[in-house]
Amino acid sequence: MPERTLRPSPLSPTVDFSADGVQHGFLRLPYSRDDSAWGSVMIPVTVVKNGEGPTALLTGGNHGDEYEGPIALFDLARSLKAEAVTGRVIIVPAMNYPAFLAGTRTSPIDRGNMNRSFPGAPDGTVTQKIADYFQRTLLPLADIVLDFHSGGRTLDFLPFCAAHILPDKAEEAKAFDLVRAFGAPWSMKMLEIDAVGMYDTAAEEMGKVFITTELGGGGTATAKSAAIAKTGVANVLKAAGILSGGVETRATTWLDMPDGNCFSFAEDGGLIEPLFDLGDTVGNGDVVARIYPVGRTGAPPLEVKAKMDGILAARHFPGLVKPGDCVSVLATVVAE
Ligand SMILES: [Zn+2]
Repeated sequence: MPERTLRPSPLSPTVDFSADGVQHGFLRLPYSRDDSAWGSVMIPVTVVKNGEGPTALLTGGNHGDEYEGPIALFDLARSLKAEAVTGRVIIVPAMNYPAFLAGTRTSPIDRGNMNRSFPGAPDGTVTQKIADYFQRTLLPLADIVLDFHSGGRTLDFLPFCAAHILPDKAEEAKAFDLVRAFGAPWSMKMLEIDAVGMYDTAAEEMGKVFITTELGGGGTATAKSAAIAKTGVANVLKAAGILSGGVETRATTWLDMPDGNCFSFAEDGGLIEPLFDLGDTVGNGDVVARIYPVGRTGAPPLEVKAKMDGILAARHFPGLVKPGDCVSVLATVVAE
């Protein structure tokens, strides 16, 4: 079947990605609506370029309620000088900008989850149009891609930088080198519940060196998690040779998500009582959380059990849980 010819992206940048210097601008996406007939979504972007060298594409706000990435990237965008750079840094602190402004995981315009919208569509919804622009314009410019995530309002994570196990072991090694350079307290060999439609997958299939993070959660950031993000992005740019200076080496513990048994999901809703905290050691069969039915007193709680030995790497954040929610994620400590 011949590949469908896609129309050009409706997004237009107000910056020139090939020009040297520091430029602050927007990715402008026409979005006609009740309160602005010929209006646009204006996604902030900074490009810092100095001569020839690798290109790093740095993104936060892929999910709109995750804050360490936007904090580190708004800060980097205001402070990075062209003379400090060899090559190019493209910074988009809030990739799903409508979701970021609403403080929600998905877009309030189309309910689009950016990280399930790739490769996107130039004639699709607002979220699909943004994904398509990354797929066909920004990712091809990049050598390395760092996409910040955290747990958002419904999950909380141990702070880790991560890359995926890949079929191409040379590509995998390059990604894990950058994870090591990032220097989060924890480093993860990451397994996805469902990799279809993810930005990660799009970047990896294009042969880009891709790393990501989970740096906390609960719909906020802490002084510690923001500092991890800021040091991490500087370290990655140094390791890539884009910034000069040595990587600030930090001790990290390597974790692995060996298979689907690492996830536990709620089979009923109710009030959740955590029995372990992040970083605790959990044994196979241990009850990680109890879920109390809230309709009446006197009923026994549902027990959510671990299906493997490991460290508690992520947990459900809000006090109430719904059927199908992810209750816990376990990971095993591995030698680097
Ligand atoms: Zn996320």
